Amino acid sequence: MPLTRLGVIGWPVAHSRSPAMHSAALAACGLGGLTYTRLPVPPELFEQTVRALPEAGFLGVNATIPHKAAALVVADEATERARAIGAANTLTFTPEGGIAADNTDAPGLIAALEEPVAGRTALVLGAGGAARAAAWALLDAGAREVRVWNRTPERARILAEELGATAVPEPAPADLLVNCTAAGLDPARPAFKDLPLSADDLGWYRCVVDLVYGTGAGALITAARERGLRTVDGLEILVRQGALSFERWTGRPPPLQVMRAAARDPDRR
Ligand code: NAP
Repeated sequence: MPLTRLGVIGWPVAHSRSPAMHSAALAACGLGGLTYTRLPVPPELFEQTVRALPEAGFLGVNATIPHKAAALVVADEATERARAIGAANTLTFTPEGGIAADNTDAPGLIAALEEPVAGRTALVLGAGGAARAAAWALLDAGAREVRVWNRTPERARILAEELGATAVPEPAPADLLVNCTAAGLDPARPAFKDLPLSADDLGWYRCVVDLVYGTGAGALITAARERGLRTVDGLEILVRQGALSFERWTGRPPPLQVMRAAARDPDRR
């Protein structure tokens, strides 16, 4: 069977903007023979579902919460960065049924920054999967120092030790601030209540990146823009990681503007 299907596998996955973004990109590139769909799969069915996907005509899938660590485990081969981060967000299937894993969250962050990272300092907030990808990406891109703060300090210590970053008990000034916590995700709870810094402290940074996107997102980015800082929001990060997955699967240059427009307004046709 020809491999013509793509998708995003998550639990839950109803909120994902990847189907709108990738479907728009496939159409823009004249790849109407390929389709991209949502695959809601609970953790206990993840492995058997993934192993069945090539036979069902799948060329590749994005893995999202909570499957990124399992996606690496199920793969027959993985890129060095996926192994170092300990998680994969992009699986590619071969016609023989092989599974190759990559992590495009890391290079997606660097691409979204659109500025050199070498020699810069960064403060990463969080110590979950997104923070691991961000810290690895910044260090790999030559950051002079990556500090990591987390609500649960022990997790920051472990991340820092494994990746060569520095765990810190409280925020300090740096070139880049990268929020990889879920603070801001709950629309009913102001993001700054869950962050270790106030809106005025944002002046310590030149550029503020917030990976969170969704209905509650925006307080951090809005406060940073009000202070005249450069910002990169969670939707731009989503677009950049998706663009790299798209390129990997199709071999085509990703239509970034089309993907951006679809990610920002997924109901638009
Ligand atoms: P995760 O592995 O579950 O980690 C969650 C992190 O957020 C942990 O560091 C956790 O701290 C912290 N956290 C959770 N609730 C918090 C709160 N109320 N106050 C302070 N810290 C809190 O999740 P993840 O995969 O790293 O994702 C983190 C965020 O990034 C999510 O919002 C996700 O949607 C977003 N994300 C966006 C993209 C994108 O493409 N834009 C990609 C990946 C992730 P503890 O260790 O103390 O629990």
